[in-house]
Amino acid sequence: MYAEIIMDIASEQVDRVFTYEVPDGMALRPGTRVRVPFGPREKEGFVIRLKKQAGYDASKIKPVLSALEEYPALLPPLMDLAFEIKSKTHCPLCEALRLMLPAEMRGGRVKIKTQPYVRLLIPPERVDEAISQQGRASKRKLLITLLSDGRDHPLDELKEMIRDVRTPLNYLVERDMAAVIEKEALRSPYYGHMDAPPDPELTDEQREALAELIPALKKPGKPFLLHGVTGSGKTEVYIRLVREALKMGKGAIILVPEIVLTPQMINWFRSRFGDNMAVLHSRLSPGERYDEWRRIRLGQARIVIGARSAVFAPVENLGVLIVDEEHEQTYLSERFPQYDAREIAVSRGKREGAAVLLASATPSIYSYAMTRRGDYMLIEMPHRVMSRPLPRIHLVDMREELRRGNHSMFSSLLQQRLETCIADGHQAMLFINRRGYASSVNCRKCGETIKCSRCDVSMTYHSVDHTLRCHYCGEIRPMPSLCPACQSPYIRPMGTGTQKVQEELNRRFPGVGVIRMDMDTTAGKNAHFELVDRFRARQAQILLGTQMIAKGLDFPQVTLVGAVMADLTLNFPDYRAPERTFQLLVQVAGRAGRGEDPGEVVIQTYQPDHYAIAGAATQDYRAFFNREFERRKSDLYPPFTMIVRFLCDAKEMEAARKTAENLREQVIREFSGTPLYRRILFIRSDDAPISRIQDRARAHVLMKLLNHPDTEKILARLQEMAGGEYPARVQLEINPASLA
Ligand code: ADP
Ligand code: ZN
Ligand code: ZN
Repeated sequence: MYAEIIMDIASEQVDRVFTYEVPDGMALRPGTRVRVPFGPREKEGFVIRLKKQAGYDASKIKPVLSALEEYPALLPPLMDLAFEIKSKTHCPLCEALRLMLPAEMRGGRVKIKTQPYVRLLIPPERVDEAISQQGRASKRKLLITLLSDGRDHPLDELKEMIRDVRTPLNYLVERDMAAVIEKEALRSPYYGHMDAPPDPELTDEQREALAELIPALKKPGKPFLLHGVTGSGKTEVYIRLVREALKMGKGAIILVPEIVLTPQMINWFRSRFGDNMAVLHSRLSPGERYDEWRRIRLGQARIVIGARSAVFAPVENLGVLIVDEEHEQTYLSERFPQYDAREIAVSRGKREGAAVLLASATPSIYSYAMTRRGDYMLIEMPHRVMSRPLPRIHLVDMREELRRGNHSMFSSLLQQRLETCIADGHQAMLFINRRGYASSVNCRKCGETIKCSRCDVSMTYHSVDHTLRCHYCGEIRPMPSLCPACQSPYIRPMGTGTQKVQEELNRRFPGVGVIRMDMDTTAGKNAHFELVDRFRARQAQILLGTQMIAKGLDFPQVTLVGAVMADLTLNFPDYRAPERTFQLLVQVAGRAGRGEDPGEVVIQTYQPDHYAIAGAATQDYRAFFNREFERRKSDLYPPFTMIVRFLCDAKEMEAARKTAENLREQVIREFSGTPLYRRILFIRSDDAPISRIQDRARAHVLMKLLNHPDTEKILARLQEMAGGEYPARVQLEINPASLA
């Protein structure tokens, strides 16, 4: 027997199969990780295929040294997925295969924890005889009896049953009647048992959703998109669906945007499913993550909850894949090879005959468009559970505030509502939508945002040289001193930090507890959970934070939510800015009024008429979708086009720029004059907006391609070009999460 092996070495040069001989008696299957001689060294690799013939001179073929696990680490459908990722992203196969495994598994970096077990070596037919031979040694008799069920017993367990078990055990071991062996013990990051609350009676909408979903476990068809407003009880739908899958002997994967944002959901699941559930996320220790992975692989945990990469969890006989908050950007991986976990979920579901459920209160434009085309099935849950009303939303026009002489970041309405909320002993959440220092430039008097003349995106302020730049086409303009629309001097880069808001709150509401959650205050491993717990325990009345507090949190005592600067994401230099703004505001608003008391929301904005803001205020998803979809169509943005770029990075900017320029010329040379050239709507090479990351200079070639069957041919060629030899490292990105 011979094995075709892919080396676990991320390099284009060795991205092909190598043939090794399988020594007699070594049980290998496709997907097994092995150790093989490779050049002068020993290396790890993956068995891709077994074959009878070597294919060439068998005498030159070296043997596989050992299997790293007794079982294939890679399941066959996951290997197929890796091939798919390779063909889409043009990465070496080994890098796609690595996505399927916990990183710490490679290179033997984590040790398997073992525990002593006792095994009886007496054949079953001679057990009775052996017992009678022990005369009056009752402990030995008992020990043999206990062990005679054919199972290996943990030594610890025997110690509890037989006092001083060492003596009879040593006696048996010395006579080869029993053996002590070391077996794997799995670390679990969670302890203790949680009591499951009784199942709530399902609402009509939940029942109707399940009536559509459950049959799909048996007979999978198109993916489902569940559009359920905040507080409509989507989690309960997931739980019931997973339970049905388990009844059929099938497993489940539930993807959540970020584990730290969903402690509540995990608790709900854990209380219902206990140890049958595994959790995969980046905050586990390497040992814990590895053990969780093995619990899944060995079938001890049939349900997996995890972030993006859990879409690759080795669940066999998968019944359902659920993607919660499917609109979240975190499902797009930014690291190479880039993949979209939603796309993988759909593809994996199809491959393995599993139902796929994407769900959100604010579905992505892409997924909702798929329901319009009939490619996904739409399920709607338009009401909150217990007939709780959606919160009342007020839009405050901050230009108006300025005209009335209020120069602060709190409108009079927000100030007044905060006062009432605090006096009533309720809690409030204040949300500041802020990320990084790159900010748009905005007139505080008329609301004008400076946009690129060729792209429908805001320009970004660069403090280094005091310029405005367009991240899509590279246009550069000096920073104006007067507003181009109204000539007022109140034009400036936007941006109000959480810290500044906290100081202001302390000044306005002395003595009122404020918890601030942002990148600074949540750096520690458990800081996030602690802050959330403190707020839940009412140790503060105001929770102030960034995106982090926008989603997933369920605090029944919160009656007021304020979006201090609703426009910040709207002016982000990205065509997805309206979509993201709408989603964020609807999600934030959804934090209010989840308990008995109704909720109220104050959204402060300079652009109250913008359809993303006005749409969030009325919580009318469909109206927003229609408007945004039309804009994408007329302005030629995804899903009608693809934004594609070569990202080139190198130690020196010169090398990155040269490479980008070279690639751009290649593309033009290759396609101009051909019919395919019409599909390329735009191409330009430039320094990347963030021109240096981790001490590597970055340049890129940006392209906009029409979404058309032909375009695949262009992509295939672009991928080949990306694989060429250049002074810089090159990656081809298709609709990347970020163009930074
Ligand atoms: P969503 O994810 O849709 O925003 P959740 O799943 O967080 O909503 O549910 C909102 C709240 O309603 C939670 O506190 C949940 O426990 C509760 N809930 C869900 N389903 C029911 C039900 N059928 N009866 C009563 N309460 C429910
Ligand atoms: Zn102006
Ligand atoms: Zn532009």
